[in-house]
Amino acid sequence: MKRWIRIFIISVFAIAAVSLVVIQFYQTRRTFSINDNMFNIGVGNAMDEVIKQLDAETTMGSDEPAASFSYQGLDSLIAEQLLLNGIDIHPVVGIYNGNERSFLYSSDPRHEKQLEESPYRYNFHPAGVVSNNQFFITLAFPTAQLFLQRHSNLFVYMSFFLVLIIAAMFVISLRALANQRKLDQMKSEFINNMTHEIKTPLATIGLACEMLRDETISQDSASRQNFIGIINDENQRMRVLVETILQSAKMSNKNFHISPKEVDVHQIIKKVAQSFTLTLSNRGGSLETQLNADPSVIEADELHLTNLVYNLIDNGIKYSANAPAITVSTAIVDHQLELRVSDHGIGISKEDQKHVFEKFYRVSTGDVHNVKGFGIGLNYVTQVVKLHQGHIALESELGKGSTFIITLPMC
Ligand code: ADP
Repeated sequence: MKRWIRIFIISVFAIAAVSLVVIQFYQTRRTFSINDNMFNIGVGNAMDEVIKQLDAETTMGSDEPAASFSYQGLDSLIAEQLLLNGIDIHPVVGIYNGNERSFLYSSDPRHEKQLEESPYRYNFHPAGVVSNNQFFITLAFPTAQLFLQRHSNLFVYMSFFLVLIIAAMFVISLRALANQRKLDQMKSEFINNMTHEIKTPLATIGLACEMLRDETISQDSASRQNFIGIINDENQRMRVLVETILQSAKMSNKNFHISPKEVDVHQIIKKVAQSFTLTLSNRGGSLETQLNADPSVIEADELHLTNLVYNLIDNGIKYSANAPAITVSTAIVDHQLELRVSDHGIGISKEDQKHVFEKFYRVSTGDVHNVKGFGIGLNYVTQVVKLHQGHIALESELGKGSTFIITLPMC
């Protein structure tokens, strides 16, 4: 997908999502205020009816309204009338003497302050009361907010749920786009690297063939052997390279199986070590083997185990800035065969150690070294180890070197 199309989609999506959130916000506020108005109207209607009924009940000649009816009766009358108006909460009720600024009655003295300041205050002076004082019935709704919320909640929850779903979809789409982009990048990097990796050995083989064609050189047996060795090494290098790519692709398939048989790990190590002789001598490096595992025969897939050892030694050489010094050792530890491949190369930082086994992951090298690769070697090694029910570990320190430790079950 083209960059501008991606930016366009992201922008439209972002604007739409933000607009939706803003609209929802205002809509929710409107719902709260509509519910608030309906609540006030309901309370007003209920209280009109309450006062009408109390007026009728008042004993003529009373000094104050309270003398004429029972307070409990007042509480339940108000609750009943509120319910008839769709308000199913019990308010705190007070009868207030406006002249003396005191309560004749309050259903919950803890809320007297709230009752005093309440906007739900109704003039109450039944015809039968002879006092000149001003009386009010005041109501307080400590749980009114809850009531209003309860009535708006469904709407609010649904709105936010929908906004959340849209936001989640937006994030998922963004991540999918980013992944797609990363994949595209990795694909083109992979093709670049592969072209480079294959071109180099091909050029070396071509050059060695040219040399062998030259009669003066080909007649000298030492030179001839040297060039044949170069061709052999480069050929082996390409074989493992192609094999790693192919096998790694095959391993992504769930139906992939290995073909285990009894193999001598020491034989495999010796064979692979042999194939690095020329590369090591060209770089003035060395490869030491400490083959202590006894027995050294395990049940494994020979081809994959060979590629595994090759990849680890190859990395050890590739990622050594100076003359490579590689050690391959084996031992029996806890009835398992332990294979260690160590180098004194550039090492891997703690952060990169967490990722080097991921497919296509390559440590960003900066100017430190310029080694080409695909970032699939270690992932392939991990897959092989897993298929053999083994375990892989990495010990490494930046600038000091790395040790890959592989444990494989015995027969
Ligand atoms: P490639 O070598 O093709 O890049 P790998 O999967 O073999 O891919 O390795 C992944 C990354 O891990 C490499 O790019 C390199 O940065 C780092 N790495 C692997 N082996 C070593 C090692 N022995 N020493 C230092 N870094 C290593």
